[in-house]
Amino acid sequence: MRSDALRCIGCRREFPEDEILYACPSCGNLLEFIVPISDLDADKLRASFDSRPLGVWRYKELLPGFKGKSPISIDEGGTPLHRCVKLGNELGLRSLYIKFDGMNPTGSFKDRGMTVGITKARDLKVKAVVCASTGNTSASLAAYAGIAGIKCIVMIPSGAIALGKLSQAMMHGATVFEVKGNFDDALELVMSSSRELGLYVLNSVNPFRPEGQKTAAYEIVDQLGEAPDSLIIPVGNGGNNAAYWKGFSEFKELGLAKKAPRIYGIQAEGAAPVAEAFRRGADKIRPVKKPETIATAIRIGNPANWLKTIRAIRGSGGDCISVTDDEIVASQKAIAKNEGLFVEPAAAASFAGLIRLVESGDVGKDERIVCVATGHGLKDPDGAIRVSSKPIKIDASIKSLRAKMG
Ligand SMILES: *Cc1c(COP(=O)(O)O)cnc(C)c1O
Ligand SMILES: [Zn+2]
Repeated sequence: MRSDALRCIGCRREFPEDEILYACPSCGNLLEFIVPISDLDADKLRASFDSRPLGVWRYKELLPGFKGKSPISIDEGGTPLHRCVKLGNELGLRSLYIKFDGMNPTGSFKDRGMTVGITKARDLKVKAVVCASTGNTSASLAAYAGIAGIKCIVMIPSGAIALGKLSQAMMHGATVFEVKGNFDDALELVMSSSRELGLYVLNSVNPFRPEGQKTAAYEIVDQLGEAPDSLIIPVGNGGNNAAYWKGFSEFKELGLAKKAPRIYGIQAEGAAPVAEAFRRGADKIRPVKKPETIATAIRIGNPANWLKTIRAIRGSGGDCISVTDDEIVASQKAIAKNEGLFVEPAAAASFAGLIRLVESGDVGKDERIVCVATGHGLKDPDGAIRVSSKPIKIDASIKSLRAKMG
């Protein structure tokens, strides 16, 4: 019998897996799911994993259990680990990869967590699910709630969400509320709606979502044959980088990887409370009241997972830094032009951060480096058009074409 449980990241109090909790009633910290690593046989796991295709549920023995039927899944994960030859050469790097998690079913890594979260919601027999979202969480939750046949409510900050993401939530049938305020305000409303109205929250405070997200780390080890030296990843609410760290740490503990990478979190300058805490060498963040950045997916001033994030990055020996919106846009263009991958601005932050880390010498040129591209560029067509050169108008004649081609 497996002894799965939820554990408080603060006072370490344990709770049964099926208790609906987002924070510890004793100390208020977030919870995390504990995999009973010492009960597991690594050789057997390796054989089971190898018998299944790459993807989230390839690793089901390391995920929370589900009752009865199969998990609610549309083949999330199994995304490409793209070798960046041109960008690598340009920066003088020997071995650079992009893990393109924008290739998930709804176009962002959020699907990895949502397949686990919604399967749990089904088992708990919840009546309705809810999330606050800068866009990708709502797109993903709407899709998965649809498959599960569970009512879905999403709360988006007014005016600050990319068009592609909004259209997804609407098309998948969610009830969309536009909240007057920013993401942090919307999340507060979600948390009170769960207390007052009994809605099940699928933001990253939900302890099951990170479990799905950690599988991206397993996949990278399986795709490379070993963990990389450095992993560069955007940080918004801070759930994803902590999930990667959990994934790499579990594989290492099981002996399925020899090491875990240093994790470098990248924030946008106008929304960088975690990077600021690292600059000060502090153990706590100071929330940013009015976060601003073109990278809407990481436009978050008061990250819910700040403690998990700080521990993950420190524990890995990495760092958290910030980059400007100009650097983010330049990186988005460089990745599209040189590697053929269209990533959204938040996803491009990881490469922008890598450029700085190579300049500062924190990341060595001989290292094996993985940048995480968290979402697809088609999510934000307006943003892409704004920063690109406009189409040139011509008559339908060769003469006109020749004249304008230069
Ligand atoms: C959600 C999201 C992030 C931020 O992830 P956190 O877990 O909140 O740090 C980054 N990029 C994209 C594209 C996202 O959708
Ligand atoms: Zn506690």
